[in-house]
Amino acid sequence: MMPPFRVALVGAGPAAMYALGHLLETSELAFEVDVFERLPNPWGLVRAGVAPDHPEKKWVVDRLFDFHLNDPRVRFFGNVEIGADIAHAELAAWYDAVVYAVGASGDTRMRIPGETLPGCWAACDFIGFYNGHPDYRHLGFDLSSERAVVVGNGNVALDVARMLTTPVAELARTDIADHALDALRRSAVREVVVLGRRSPMQGAFHNPELEELEHLQGVDVLVEGGSPADDEPLSWEARRKAATLDRLAARPRHARNKRIVLRFLSSPVELRGSAKVDQVVVARNRLERNARGELIAQPTDERSVLRAGLVLRAIGYRGGPFPGLPFDERRGVIRNVGGRVVDAQGWLAGTYVTGWIKRGCRGIIGSNKPCARETVDCLIDDAKNRRLPRARLDKNEVFARVMQKQPDLVQRRDWSAIDRAEKDAGREAGRPRVKMSDVARMLACAQAAR
Ligand SMILES: Cc1cc2nc3c(=O)[nH]c(=O)nc-3n(C[C@H](O)[C@H](O)[C@H](O)COP(=O)(O)OP(=O)(O)OC[C@H]3O[C@@H](n4cnc5c(N)ncnc54)[C@H](O)[C@@H]3O)c2cc1C
Repeated sequence: MMPPFRVALVGAGPAAMYALGHLLETSELAFEVDVFERLPNPWGLVRAGVAPDHPEKKWVVDRLFDFHLNDPRVRFFGNVEIGADIAHAELAAWYDAVVYAVGASGDTRMRIPGETLPGCWAACDFIGFYNGHPDYRHLGFDLSSERAVVVGNGNVALDVARMLTTPVAELARTDIADHALDALRRSAVREVVVLGRRSPMQGAFHNPELEELEHLQGVDVLVEGGSPADDEPLSWEARRKAATLDRLAARPRHARNKRIVLRFLSSPVELRGSAKVDQVVVARNRLERNARGELIAQPTDERSVLRAGLVLRAIGYRGGPFPGLPFDERRGVIRNVGGRVVDAQGWLAGTYVTGWIKRGCRGIIGSNKPCARETVDCLIDDAKNRRLPRARLDKNEVFARVMQKQPDLVQRRDWSAIDRAEKDAGREAGRPRVKMSDVARMLACAQAAR
């Protein structure tokens, strides 16, 4: 019988976990998988992106991902950064196949004057901060102004607006990072203006996320600039959106409430301030049809100025180049055909990609499942047809090399100890978990449990 194929999976977010599931469930071939993750914890954006007030979206971790990671054919190598601690060429020689599922942590710039002023941030910085991602825990957001501006009209923009306005007592029951809770407790922000360049019907946010705004306690939601009639005919989805916006606009308001202002057909054109941002110049847009008949936003000469001390751009995540792998600059993805990594010479034998770094930054957690299936199907086909270069090291040799490269390796039992400690602390505080966001603390927790 053929020995199991040995696969390195780089990243431990949703794309990696769905790929892992497909590899393990196939009955055609046997696989053993090592999961490399640069952080001590797995789960990618399910832990570091999904908003703390959306615990139900994180159940997929307990239901499925945890099950896969605990399979005896799987080893977890946390706190190991591929491309820094270990090069792609090394991994490629150690394994029969390497699958990259490293996600995308860069963001898209607005490219307007004043964007580099302090006080203007990528939304992903703020999201990493409130979700306790170790890379973002030290960031200092100035929440001393009454108004914040969020640029963008997707679910991420709504997440951020909610986090800035939800009563702290409610957030304190979630798994939000403690340092973020402290910052929000001191926050003076009372109004968040969400700027969308197109009309309400073209906003990228989904209906459930919009409907959620109806249930925010102590927050008025105002809808400005743009009506559904701007882009008829309306689909069923759009009609549901329009109905929600109407209900939001009709809700009674209270002077003491915080406010989220959904301002459509509006784009920032300049940020002003001396030492930091204090004004956002906003252009009013109108919709026009382009040559393909699509409605696009065009700025008019109409301008308004918003005073604001915090600007968060939420106009899209973007993948960055990965050392040793071909990169498609235009799309912000590792160059691939259906999941096989390719350069100008063709396929890099045994190298695959899945998730956001394969197809670009779009889609919810579940969208990564078919994406991973496509990649794993290629891998299985290549394995069956003897197109994989066979590994030059066995399991034990790989483990020794990894330990040599990263003596502070976090293995599955270490992550379990960290996970348990977080959940225990959460139980005492009436929260799902109290997250550790400091790598040194996580390592100490794992060490103490050994
Ligand atoms: C702010 C935000 C909120 C979201 N909320 C929701 C939601 O509520 N519901 C929903 O369904 N979807 C949500 N999504 C979408 C969902 O999170 C993504 O579809 C999904 O996380 C993409 O999976 P991925 O595995 O490609 O990337 P990621 O989740 O980013 O995982 C990539 C993993 O790779 C690791 N990694 C990176 N580089 C290396 C390296 N060099 N070596 C080793 N490891 C590495 C990272 O640390 C990370 O763990 C949200 C996305 C964002 C940005």
